[in-house]
Amino acid sequence: MAGILFIISAPSGSGKSTLVNQIRSLVDNLEFSVSYTTRPPRGSEEEGREYHFTTREKFEQMIRNNEFLEYAEVFGNYYGTARSSLTDAQAHGKDLLLDIDVQGAAQVRRKIPDAVGIFVMPPAPDILATRLRNRSRAEGGVTEEVIQRRLAEARQEIVNYREYSYILVNDILARAEEDLLAIVASERVHREGDNSIQDADRLLKLAESCRQENSGDRVYPVLKAFGLLDPEM
Ligand code: 5GP
Repeated sequence: MAGILFIISAPSGSGKSTLVNQIRSLVDNLEFSVSYTTRPPRGSEEEGREYHFTTREKFEQMIRNNEFLEYAEVFGNYYGTARSSLTDAQAHGKDLLLDIDVQGAAQVRRKIPDAVGIFVMPPAPDILATRLRNRSRAEGGVTEEVIQRRLAEARQEIVNYREYSYILVNDILARAEEDLLAIVASERVHREGDNSIQDADRLLKLAESCRQENSGDRVYPVLKAFGLLDPEM
């Protein structure tokens, strides 16, 4: 049976990397697709672990060779998912997790409609700004202009949340982690008939509450804080 394809997207600074690292270490039989990027390594990132770091020339050659399942330009750098990530996971009977932006997610969804999209939202713009500033300090600093641009980009990405099956609001990290694990477990129960999962009833309920159509109570305050609600809503 072909594995499940999970796509996780989030604005920069939403805490997605922490969530992705958690799930990579806690969930069995889930491969992580290591993307190719032309941006330089950041902090403690290692070649082949977070990304395959490459040049623009090599990336463009890979585009011409049709080696990407999807690719996009984000913040002036290329990012792409190799087709081989998907074929390798399928060959090994594993589920696959893609950590990609909203443009890439839309491309994958067109090719693989049953991919499971998960969107991580920051709780509010001021919290996102604080996280972006803290990260920037840890990495040697970026200008306030860049922080403001990232906030504006976050707003643009959040507009697309309806394209995703599940929504996580990352206000309390432990809760978002639990929600994410529940979503993976629930999809495995429903689509792969996995009956080995402990505590399945509770996890299924938790995952249900994260479905986009059921998460209005958590999503509306975020949309409101980002100024994204229609005035009549
Ligand atoms: P960062 O530079 O902060 O690691 O990532 C910037 C953005 O690029 C994030 O939204 C991340 O999800 C996205 N990204 C990472 N890898 C890929 C990829 O292979 N394809 C696409 N479309 N986006 C990616």
